[in-house]
Amino acid sequence: MNERRAERALRLRRDQPGSVRYTRPAVVPTFDIREPAHFPRGDLRRADVEQIRTVAKQVWPDPASRRRSRDRGLYKLAALLAEHPGDTWQQRWDASPLGSEQVAARVLGGGGAVGTEYTQGVQTLFALRIVRPTLAALRINQLTIYPQYVVPAENDDGLNGFAAAVSAAALSDHFKRWALFDVCAAMTIHGVSFAYVTPESFLHYAFETRETTPRTGLHVGKYVGHSAWQVLFAMGHFPPSAPPTLRNALRAPQLTIEEMVDRYEVADPRMRELFVAYLHRRYPDVDYSGLLAAAYAIVKLFWNGIIEINPAQGDLNVSQEVYQQWHRSVVVREDGEQRLDMSAVLSPVRAFYFDLQSWAVDEPAMWGHWVTTCPVPRSTMNQIGRAKRRVRERVHATVRTLQPLLPVLVDHVTADYERWATLLHRATAAADGEAFTIGGATFVRTFSREDNRRVRHGLPAKVRVFDEAGRRIDVNRSEDSAFWAWAIVETLRHSGLRIEELTELSQLSVRQYRRPNGEVIALLVVAPSKTDRERVIPMSAELFHVIASIIRRLTVGGKTVPMVTRFDTYDRVWSDPQPFLFQRHIGQHVEVMTTGGIAEKLRHLCQAIAENDPRFEGVHFRPHDFRRLFATELVNNGLPIHIGAALLGHLNLETTRGYVAVFNEDVIRHYQAHLQRRRKARPAEEYPNVTVDEWEEFQAHFDKRKVELGSCGRPYATPCIHEHACVRCPLLNVDPNMLHRLDEIEADLIARRQRADNEGWQGEIEGIELTLGFLRGKRGDVNGRIRRSHDLGIPTPAPRDHPG
Ligand code: SF4
Repeated sequence: MNERRAERALRLRRDQPGSVRYTRPAVVPTFDIREPAHFPRGDLRRADVEQIRTVAKQVWPDPASRRRSRDRGLYKLAALLAEHPGDTWQQRWDASPLGSEQVAARVLGGGGAVGTEYTQGVQTLFALRIVRPTLAALRINQLTIYPQYVVPAENDDGLNGFAAAVSAAALSDHFKRWALFDVCAAMTIHGVSFAYVTPESFLHYAFETRETTPRTGLHVGKYVGHSAWQVLFAMGHFPPSAPPTLRNALRAPQLTIEEMVDRYEVADPRMRELFVAYLHRRYPDVDYSGLLAAAYAIVKLFWNGIIEINPAQGDLNVSQEVYQQWHRSVVVREDGEQRLDMSAVLSPVRAFYFDLQSWAVDEPAMWGHWVTTCPVPRSTMNQIGRAKRRVRERVHATVRTLQPLLPVLVDHVTADYERWATLLHRATAAADGEAFTIGGATFVRTFSREDNRRVRHGLPAKVRVFDEAGRRIDVNRSEDSAFWAWAIVETLRHSGLRIEELTELSQLSVRQYRRPNGEVIALLVVAPSKTDRERVIPMSAELFHVIASIIRRLTVGGKTVPMVTRFDTYDRVWSDPQPFLFQRHIGQHVEVMTTGGIAEKLRHLCQAIAENDPRFEGVHFRPHDFRRLFATELVNNGLPIHIGAALLGHLNLETTRGYVAVFNEDVIRHYQAHLQRRRKARPAEEYPNVTVDEWEEFQAHFDKRKVELGSCGRPYATPCIHEHACVRCPLLNVDPNMLHRLDEIEADLIARRQRADNEGWQGEIEGIELTLGFLRGKRGDVNGRIRRSHDLGIPTPAPRDHPG
């Protein structure tokens, strides 16, 4: 057994810091038993069955029937283990088939009632710390009620507090059971008390469980313990410095600059020092991902490549011959593919040489020694400029391909969401075994044993149905997936946000501004990043609709938007808990969707459409394509930030007061601090005071947007670019009160088409058909919004009319 443990520990350690992979999790999975041997009910390792029975009777006196079967199990186990050598129960266990991790006690007992007696005996030995099993030996015995043995046996205030916290946690019963089981199992296999369940040891348990899970079934390759981790963190058992979720603990944190360089194993210590010093010097101006990219290009691709060609190279003075040889080698990537973007390699290298030259003027002692001619010739950069133009042309071609396909994608996600929402609605109302029909297809609702148990306890059952082909469908999951597909596509296309900006939206990014005339304008705040400025987007009716739908979904049943942390994959840091909008329940935990996950979802959507629409073959929308499409429609997508900032600074006080009733003050403070931190990274000139003229112009913009059928969604300070043909214009937001006017226009158009038909005006017919198509599309959009009409669920600030 100990060999197996050691082998596994070694395997785990290989993935830890110190290995050259540098992809280690934020918490190092390890357990270090400094606790004296833990025997909550005395050291029974050499006790006979009678002594164990006596202790067991004190710990678990009831029910009598279970007590008797447990005793029978203990006798049978003792007899079985007696056939194997050893002075202690542990030694005999390790020598027996039970310690081999290959067979469960119940199987050795022949299954049935006798098998259950064996299982009870095994639980007794584990819980009283007579035998310390390996994780695989514990799991193979399927000890579903194991916490009922461990918690009384430990009689530990900490563990009792954890059990109470799990019971009060907002988790399903299923995950509550798992949370308790995971902690009891971790304590058992590590042989420790609850006090020694640390982030490191618990992560070790999660790693080892993943390793020992059979390679089949639902939980292949998954980590356990997410719920337990959240409760342990929330109750303060884990230190505040620990990540709040197990998933965050698994993510690699930022590398230090030394680690960024060292992972490329630079042999010459002087060169290593130079690279480290160079990156430290650039650190204040470049974000983390920029530094990583610079280290990759300069250290790995350039320097290590040069050394491979000329091992004697001792400084930066690279001959043209060596450089040309290196250049030929670097145009092909490690995977054998052609490198398309050579500027990503050559630009950092050129910048490196030129930075050293300019810094040497001010600090000759530090940098002067390294100054030399840059080996990358100017002519190469000109070629790169031409290559970049080719890339831009390819991007434009992609946008032209995607533009006509966007309505198809939107129709697909809308129809899919509505179909699943209808199915969920109908199936929720159906009883177990009840058949119902939607659109000619028949479904049958089905309840699992767990569902029946939930219903008996007054809880809602999961919604599952069988379709006509006999497939069992998890309707909750499918509807949820369809909703988020719709929400992602709609938000991206109506806002033009970058993917990371989308995942960063929180309920606190949504603001309302009430104009002096009472009109309420919904605004979306896009936090500034180091490389891009803050934006405030006046929301169109469509964007408002999708954001409100998300908030309503997250606050169903009167909840507030759940607080979750967000992992920034570029900077590799976690945010403070915030009411982020693009969050999902994934198994045991809730988290903000990842940018990779969203891109993957879009890819799957396009593949699904391609099954019926050949235009989608080999085509897929990337998140940034929506931004490009948005930009081709709108030249500018927000208010000038100094007006937006004045507006928000002004509204913050009002809005904050309202939000305090919804979230605790810490949350508001975290969000404000986050904005302030980000604003500091931007030049101060972006936030000048707003002049009276600018403010009046801002107010007038909204008056100018009023049109007969509703309001125009064109960006701030832009004229109408569609010649006021509003019915045909994608920027028109139709006021639902003006639907009757759409009907009148439609009737008029139909009459005109009839006349054109009679007169043979073919050109006129084509134009009228086009207008009719737009008109009907707009009416469909408005009706869809009315069907799913929501408010934003945010406090309304008091009316104010000037930033003052
Ligand atoms: S045509 Fe479009 S941009 Fe012009 S006013 Fe009408 S809705 Fe606005």
